[in-house]
This record gives sequence, structure tokens and C-alpha cells, in this order.
Amino acid sequence: MSDFHAELESRLIRYASIDSQSNDDGTSSPSTEIQLNILRLLEAELRDIGASDVQLTPYGTVIATIPGTAAGPTVALLAHVDTAPQFNATGVKPRVIRGYNGGAISFPDNPALSLTPEHNPYLGTKQGHDIITASGLTLLGADDKAGVAILMTTARHLLQNPEIAHPTLRVAFTPDEEIGRGVHSSLPKDLNTDFAYTFDGGAVGEIEYESFSADGAVVTIKGVSIHPGLAKDKLVNAIHLAAKIIQTLPQATLTPETTDDREGFIHATDMTGGASEMTLKFILRDFERDGLAAKGALLQQVCAAVAATEPRAEITCTITPQYRNMRYWLEKDMTPVELARQAARSLGIEPVSVPIRGGTDGSRLTEMGVPCPNLFTGMQNIHGPLEWVSVQDMAQATEFCLALVQHAAKP
Ligand SMILES: [Zn+2]
Repeated sequence: MSDFHAELESRLIRYASIDSQSNDDGTSSPSTEIQLNILRLLEAELRDIGASDVQLTPYGTVIATIPGTAAGPTVALLAHVDTAPQFNATGVKPRVIRGYNGGAISFPDNPALSLTPEHNPYLGTKQGHDIITASGLTLLGADDKAGVAILMTTARHLLQNPEIAHPTLRVAFTPDEEIGRGVHSSLPKDLNTDFAYTFDGGAVGEIEYESFSADGAVVTIKGVSIHPGLAKDKLVNAIHLAAKIIQTLPQATLTPETTDDREGFIHATDMTGGASEMTLKFILRDFERDGLAAKGALLQQVCAAVAATEPRAEITCTITPQYRNMRYWLEKDMTPVELARQAARSLGIEPVSVPIRGGTDGSRLTEMGVPCPNLFTGMQNIHGPLEWVSVQDMAQATEFCLALVQHAAKP
């Protein structure tokens, strides 16, 4: 086995130090200009290592080819460059805890913070590893710069070792995954591949081919506005109607905080407005189409019931599809999943497939005709200040990626 540790560590630190947070309010693609900083760096690095057809597309995705050294299906390997908008991502200061001793990890810029194996059992299994975290004030961005570092290291290694047999590979770095806009409508055509993998998963062994099915819902409530001094029998307050809708929806069940495993939920994410007009936003999630439809129907019924109590108000509920469970397509042809499982087993890694309580770029790509399971990188505690990744885990993911592309080669 080659030793990729030093390369992975320096790549992760270099990439994580670049702020590339996405923003749902941005209307361009990528959603934030700053993502172009890392995209342009990766474009240059791909040219430096000798990749072919390197391009930064007008929609902010870097795509390159690693020419095949053997026959076989074209395989695309993807990672996303943006970091989550949910937590501070400016001024990330990655640091390495070398030869982790198994105890609590403290943070130089935030003494109140502590990362412990008691709260993170997976960390407890990483004694002796080199652990990378941020400094306590930001997320780390191993989600998904661990994936980027793994794919760049894999690409560099394959280009330097042409005796390794693999089919044509397409490497892609996407923006805006965290805001659900990573897969541009042109990406399937531009990838020009038989199937794909995202390297955007967690613990070693994770091979995921099931995601949520997801809809978004917007409820608008128009009341009747009038001076409160003259309001008797005239004013209809949208705030009270919004409160009724929230109060009527289930709270002890069907919410993210009360569900797990294969259960879906209705999650109120946003409530804005005033007495004359209110807007409520929801995300609806379920693993199955009928379960998702039932959640949409329940929300519609609650809106209709509250509307019936006040005919002078106008309440609308608009449901918009977001993405669908990738299993619907992958279960028809499990080749990409089976290849990944074989590659993992060839390294003595036991594959684990658990449904993702979320979506990935792979959910959209799969739906658009490019089958795309999600594979492990080692990242943990993502989207917050306790985010960490083990260098040795990233090295295992790199060995796994190399085994995967060799398994895809046809003799
Ligand atoms: Zn991610």
C-alpha cells in the first residue's frame, strides 16, 4: 500500500483554509463568488498533475478526464467544494492532532468546546490516528473537502502510475451541494459517463444508495389589514392563523427531532411576515413516494381546515419536488453498488449501507439518469465546530477509490 497520509493532510489543510461557503440567497451559479477561488485552484492543480480536458464550466463545476488504461465503463468521481451555510466558515484554521491519544480534544480558540469519545464513539476507535479539526470558531469543511482531497490524490496517483488498469475516469468538483443546487441541468451531458460516485459520506465502509425523497412547501396566509382602532369585526390577523397551522400540525411525531431510521417528517424551517401576511416554509421528507405524498396531503389538509375557520383569509399551500430516493433507480441495476462493495471487501473493509436521512448530489444525478451512490470519506460531526476527520480514514478512502476504479476495468 502506498502512503498517502502526507499528501491527503496537506491537501485537506490547503482546501479547508479557503472559505467556499454556499448561500441559498445567491441567485447565480455558483451561489457565491468565493467558491470560484477553490474551483480555480482545483482547475490549476488538475492541469499540473496532467489531467486531460480540464474545464471550469459556466455553471461553476470543474470537470477533467483521467484517460483510461483499460477497457470498461466510464466512471465519474465527484466531490463538492462548498461548505454548509449553517455555521461560520470564514477563517477556518485547520490543525492536526498527531497520534490521537484517545482522550478529550480541546480547541485553541474556544475553550468551552470539547470533542470527546464519550459523545463520539467513532472517535474512540481512532487512537493513534492523526485527527484534523478546526480551531473552535468555525466548521472544518471536511464535508466535502475530504472528498476533494481523496479524489485529487487518487487522480495524481493514477496519472503517475499508468500501469494501474482502470477505465476512463471523469473527475468533477461541484459547487452548491449544501443548498441542493450542485447538479446543474447540463452536468449529466457534460460528465458523459456510464455511472458515478460521490465521495461525500462518513465512516469507513459506508456505501450509500438510498436517500430521502424530498419536497419543499410554502404556505402563504393573507389576512385582512385595517387600523386596529377600527378593526372590530373587520381585521383578520395572519399571525394568529399561522400559529393555528403550526399548532395543528403534529409535534410529538413526524418532526425531525422525534423521528429516526426510516421515518419521514414535516419540518417547519421558516416563518416570516406580519399581521397582514405570513409566509411559512416547510421541508417534507420520506424514504417512499407514498409516505412523502401523505405528508404533503396532511399539510394541505391542515391549511384547508384552518382556512375553513376564517373564510375572509386566503391561505395557499404550494408543494415543490426537490429530489427522490436514489434507490428507485439503483435497485434496477445494482452494478455501481456491487462494484463498490467488491472493492471495499478486497481491502478487508466491510461495506455498510444505511439510508441517508438527507440527499446528495447523487440523488439528483441518479434521477437524471446517471446512477450515483455515495461513498465514505471519513468526515464526522459535519456542519459544526466539532467537525473532524482522520488522515488514516482518508487514506483508506483513497485506497478504496483506487480499488474501485481497478474493479471497474474489464480485462
Ligand atoms: Zn457533503
